Amino acid sequence: MSILIDGKALAAEMRAQLCERVKNFKIEHGKEIGLAVVLVGEDPASQVYVRNKIRACEEVGIRSYAYRLPESATQEEVEMLIDELVASDHIHGILVQLPLPKHLNERKLLRRIPPAKDVDGFCAENVGNLAMNRETIVACTPFGAMKMLEKYGIDPKGKRAVVLGRSNIVGKPMAMLLLNADATVTVCHSKTENLKEICASADILVVAIGKAKFVTADMVKDGAVVIDVGMDRDENGKLCGDVDFEDVKDKASYITPVPGGVGPMTITMLLYNTVQTAERS
Ligand code: NAP
Repeated sequence: MSILIDGKALAAEMRAQLCERVKNFKIEHGKEIGLAVVLVGEDPASQVYVRNKIRACEEVGIRSYAYRLPESATQEEVEMLIDELVASDHIHGILVQLPLPKHLNERKLLRRIPPAKDVDGFCAENVGNLAMNRETIVACTPFGAMKMLEKYGIDPKGKRAVVLGRSNIVGKPMAMLLLNADATVTVCHSKTENLKEICASADILVVAIGKAKFVTADMVKDGAVVIDVGMDRDENGKLCGDVDFEDVKDKASYITPVPGGVGPMTITMLLYNTVQTAERS
């Protein structure tokens, strides 16, 4: 049986440390750290995510400012709101909950958020800095995955890492982080040939494809570290990951569960990024 990488425990430990940094910031600067969350429309999943983010802010003492705009909000209205938040001294981080309603130009909206307040780490400058291995704000989910490796003493240096999935928010930044940590990185996607063999060659396998239980034991090398980013539903509607946990758990040396693995780290890293941006401001 492999060692379980406990994201819930690490998230709790990191949030306790963040609480202290938030308190110190207030003492030093005489004001709270502020995170603005912008939600446009009624998407039920987005509403849950926003609620969870606000609750997490409260837990560590970050002041959250939630802006809920109707589905009918125009590009100009959302842009005006973002501009106000950018100008505010009380707001250290701005997050626009995605996906946005179809009539809004997402790229144009996100470009209004300056890199220093881009706590999601999605803007071109922050992604570019990550690619060049410079100080930056890193996308929360892959950043959380790296913190998990660090916590468990897993050094990617010299290791063969395979990232399954190439999305802008998970796969690509994950690959860059592993490369920056001196791993030899291969990125796989839906057009990759010999996927099984490539996965089975990985010392560190990170899976982010959104396909329930896709990765089975025959795709995993003996003793590999397996990080499962997926958040899917199985045939019974139960939350599961992209990795078939039961099948793989005896083959991996370390594995993240779903739930309780990468998931709790994502919001924690949002809090972490917000504290970082405030301290740097
Ligand atoms: P995404 O934008 O849909 O990207 C999926 C990626 O997987 C794409 O690069 C796609 O390849 C690749 N892919 C899909 N099917 C594949 C297959 N059969 N073989 C190989 N590659 C395949 O997804 P995402 O936003 O990165 O999210 C991935 C998963 O992580 C989802 O389950 C999501 O819910 C979860 N997630 C979890 C958290 C968290 O906090 N735990 C955060 C974000 C996402 P192409 O590029 O060729 O299409």
